[in-house]
Amino acid sequence: MSTKIEWTDETWNPVMGCSPVSDGCKNCYAISQMRRFAGMKGWPKDPNVVTLFPDRLMRPSMWRSRKRVFVCSVSDLFHEDVPFSFIDQIYAAMALSPQHVFQILTKRPLRMAKYLSAGYVEFCDRLNEASRTLHRAKPGEDFPVIMPTQKHGMVPGVAWPLSNVWHGVTVENVATLNRIKLLRKCRPTRRRFVSFEPLIGSALKGTAIGEVLQGIDWVIIGGESGPNARPMHMDWVAEIIEEARECHSHIFVKQLGSWWAKEHKSKSRKGNIMDEWRTQFMVRESPDFFLDKT
Ligand code: SF4
Repeated sequence: MSTKIEWTDETWNPVMGCSPVSDGCKNCYAISQMRRFAGMKGWPKDPNVVTLFPDRLMRPSMWRSRKRVFVCSVSDLFHEDVPFSFIDQIYAAMALSPQHVFQILTKRPLRMAKYLSAGYVEFCDRLNEASRTLHRAKPGEDFPVIMPTQKHGMVPGVAWPLSNVWHGVTVENVATLNRIKLLRKCRPTRRRFVSFEPLIGSALKGTAIGEVLQGIDWVIIGGESGPNARPMHMDWVAEIIEEARECHSHIFVKQLGSWWAKEHKSKSRKGNIMDEWRTQFMVRESPDFFLDKT
């Protein structure tokens, strides 16, 4: 599904539904959408249940043009109710669509780190078993084998990062800062990113400059949107930008949020019109997406 989210091109939802895990979930857009559209075409009947959609797994392989694909925009791929066997199928589908870049964002980095801790050989075996399932191949029948080669960024005996899969975590305040440490432990991964959205508190309070965002390729910053949006103070944004510059991370300021928009009588309810911002916040950088050979 095409999307208005500024840092991606397409959303892909083989999983729908979630449950809150921290303060940042309080006004969750995904849950409100699940309730609003419950039972309608393409939406699960029960908004409180995490639902898997195997029939959507091969959709990215049908998209002709290269896209940045946000995986699970109305759920969390690493939710406890998503079995690793299904996540294997999602990774297999991503490996079989190397023309796209897939962006995985979670608030459950511990489970993501556990998933990614599988060794090279085990992961290859699992991906190929998943490929067999995706193609409904019976024993003895052919199916696309995911070769453990450089094509997918996989280096035998060393690492298996799928070169087209980026892993990220959401951090909303200093209480959730530990997620970045867990993200750094997710080895291997091609690129790491952090979304500070909704930023509802100072994320860097008490931290030393130049330490928090080391090894993070991309930082997204955004205030909360919606009628109950909580404030995002501008000094919280400024300190993240300073830290990101120090650590050479790319910076993408997405929006200043609905609270700011109301205060400043913005023309946009989300506060995403850059011309209305302080000059220092007018920054929308991204790492190169499609330079990798596939
Ligand atoms: S983890 Fe994400 S999708 Fe799940 S409830 Fe929290 S904000 Fe919503």
